[in-house]
Amino acid sequence: MEIKVTLNPAPKAKPADESKLGFGKLFTDHMFIMDWDKASGWHDARIVPFGNLSIHPASTVLHYGSEIFEGLKAYRNAEGGVQMFRPMENIRRMNRSAARMGLPALPEEDTLQALHELIKLEADWVPHGEGTSMYIRPFMIGDDEQLGVHGIGRAHFIIILSPSGSYYAGGMAPVKIMIEDEDVRAVRGGTGEAKCGGNYAASVRAGDRAEQKGYTQVLWLDGVERKYVEEVGAMNMMFKIAGKIVTPALNGSILPGITRKSILEMCAYLGLDAEERRISVDELIEAMENGTLEEAWGCGTAAVVSPVGALAYAGKEYTINNNEIGETTMRLYEELTGLQWGKKPDPFGWVYPVN
Ligand SMILES: *Cc1c(COP(=O)(O)O)cnc(C)c1O
Repeated sequence: MEIKVTLNPAPKAKPADESKLGFGKLFTDHMFIMDWDKASGWHDARIVPFGNLSIHPASTVLHYGSEIFEGLKAYRNAEGGVQMFRPMENIRRMNRSAARMGLPALPEEDTLQALHELIKLEADWVPHGEGTSMYIRPFMIGDDEQLGVHGIGRAHFIIILSPSGSYYAGGMAPVKIMIEDEDVRAVRGGTGEAKCGGNYAASVRAGDRAEQKGYTQVLWLDGVERKYVEEVGAMNMMFKIAGKIVTPALNGSILPGITRKSILEMCAYLGLDAEERRISVDELIEAMENGTLEEAWGCGTAAVVSPVGALAYAGKEYTINNNEIGETTMRLYEELTGLQWGKKPDPFGWVYPVN
């Protein structure tokens, strides 16, 4: 694919203090855009100066929420080079999200090339500090310029880059999570397994309520019986119960996380016992009461692994592992981040160098 590059005539100064980067607030000098319409397919692949988009007020995305996104990172490795982690997994998932939302499929190899060329151009923006990375946000919007509800006839695919600070700048610490028994995030057949903005829009209220009560996130239950554990805001959940790692099976309403998948594959490689299955909230409560719930953690690209120190359900709070970081939680964090930042050899072929 030919990508037309228009360089930014006024590049910004790189941040002097990487400890103040935060997450998703600062953006690089360029972005990638490619357009699609029904008649001509994907066209006009281009890298242009980062800036505002101009959009028709009747654009589909503004009214009917036709939007999907991805989240991955570029890491500064031990040799000073830049690498991504399993980017094709994100591209393939984006195409599954696109299919669910009636948005057009991306050409996989061209999309990888777009990621590669944009990151290569912006490589100096990849931060150097411990735990820092450049967050990559590819997204697609439906952009028909009319209010009728029809199949998507126009779309754009865009990639923006955001140098981000360490998720654990203040050190890794267990978080408290509230099991949500009122709102639901997704149902089978709905959009739960698609990475679409609408899922997030519908979960803001429960998140706000949990925050007011002192919890960082909510743990969603299944949308039909509100009985089985699904996932938290932007992380899949794993538990260690009586020595065994368990995670909710992908049932059609859970987002198939690439961190989740990588941990399961890592467990097989390390010889750790791990299982995907249905996990009821009753089983969790019982395991917390009888002490067999040894560890709990969330897993996703942003945090990699996030230890959970307490779960609240129906007005009662249960402490997990004395609110300390579990041994398995820590081990998985180290194994995975070792690959991502190129500190450990990669026996899986997951690392994708950008050079
Ligand atoms: C992105 C996301 C995850 C985590 O997926 P990763 O590929 O591991 O980053 C989990 N749940 C939801 C709802 C998400 O949007």
